[in-house]
Amino acid sequence: MINLVLFGPPGAGKGTQAAFLSRAYKLIHLSTGDILREEIAADTPIGQTAKDIICRGELVPDSMVIDLIQEKLDKNPRANGFLFDGFPRTVPQAEALDTLLIHYGRSVSAMLSLEVEKEELIARLMNRGTTSGRDDDSNHSIIENRIEIYNQKTAPLISYYRNAGKYESINGTGTIEEITSRLKALIEKLPQDRKSR
Ligand code: ADP
Repeated sequence: MINLVLFGPPGAGKGTQAAFLSRAYKLIHLSTGDILREEIAADTPIGQTAKDIICRGELVPDSMVIDLIQEKLDKNPRANGFLFDGFPRTVPQAEALDTLLIHYGRSVSAMLSLEVEKEELIARLMNRGTTSGRDDDSNHSIIENRIEIYNQKTAPLISYYRNAGKYESINGTGTIEEITSRLKALIEKLPQDRKSR
């Protein structure tokens, strides 16, 4: 059993790598960004609240994403493990995830942090905006705002997981295959006691 947090700024490649890793290790892929976009598409009350916040490049309230994650954990009690993508994004979210996982007799095995330079992130997001249809990818100032919020609210999670002995840094520049190989090499090297819950 293994539970991974795939971490990194917007545009670091979390979604792309999560798709490969969840298949390779038979993990349930939980992307709060994807879940929120599904809520928006279905025009649910959560989607209606989240829509404008996401368009501005800000974070939705912690309680909203924590509840969504709890629901997914509840629905999959026998999962081999989970791959969290885009969650947690704040210290209170990380604390809530730890508490939720304890409830299920699980814990985070590792936080895999994809490191990419800011200029490269902006170029990737602007490029994704031409095909993704995502409003938050098409506008330079919204992208800057997302990176700024990442630096303020999300980057502190590096210390949170480093203090827990779970922070692993990966160079997120190169081909998709190269980055997948780096991630797999790291996952396979994780000590058994960290993979057991
Ligand atoms: P990216 O990693 O490219 O920024 P995501 O798909 O992970 O994209 O997230 C898109 C948007 O959804 C975020 O900018 C934010 O508004 C919202 N969001 C996703 N996950 C969270 C979260 N864990 N906490 C708060 N807001 C979130």
